[in-house]
Amino acid sequence: MNLSVLLVEDDRELRATLRSALEVEGYKVLAAASLADAQALWAHGACGSEAISLVLLDLGLPDGEGQTLLARLRREQAVPVIVISAREGDGQKIGLLDAGADDYLVKPFSIGELLARMRVALRRRGTALQPAITLYDSQGLRVDLAAHRVSLAGQPVHLTPTEFELLARLVRSAGQVVTHRQLLAEVWGPEFTEHTHYLRLYMGQLRAKLEADPADPRRLLTEPGVGYRLAEPQDDLPVR
Ligand code: CA
Repeated sequence: MNLSVLLVEDDRELRATLRSALEVEGYKVLAAASLADAQALWAHGACGSEAISLVLLDLGLPDGEGQTLLARLRREQAVPVIVISAREGDGQKIGLLDAGADDYLVKPFSIGELLARMRVALRRRGTALQPAITLYDSQGLRVDLAAHRVSLAGQPVHLTPTEFELLARLVRSAGQVVTHRQLLAEVWGPEFTEHTHYLRLYMGQLRAKLEADPADPRRLLTEPGVGYRLAEPQDDLPVR
């Protein structure tokens, strides 16, 4: 079965490159160069036989902002949305993640990176109706949310309740970026969304306990200006 991807990108060259790369991987690509095109394809796909499995959404489009389409997608269906943004440090990108986009990539990005992010997003949405992820096991780090246990290379690691809650939130979105605002709201509470210094402090503590070199993290990754990402579980990577 070929999964359909709605690709919304006004840059003709990038659109063509992404289309052929995705088609090589076996995806069926519906491409839109404007917000209007995207809305039309979505309306057709959502009610026709062509169920769209994932949306790649550029931010700046000639007739509007990607945000408009995201709002509609979120009202209608839990389709995964990956934002593709030209600008590093784009405030709108963070707004889209907070508004429910699954992930983002800053241009230029590699096709390998895009495909990896797509797999994570598709897998997570695919399991949305199943019990939540409660176990993370990768590169010697094992986090069992149900049993409330964390171990590193088989040795138990003691975390404070807040450290555990922060790690648990990242485990539930393993492989995906979680914004500062999401982490602060969900771990500390909605009134703490501006307190990014809490995050820096607690992330530092977690890294000190869970990273071989806290200054060069391999598990708890920083997404500059956006948030944090727990590395996607992969046991075939060389252990460092
Ligand atoms: Ca654009």
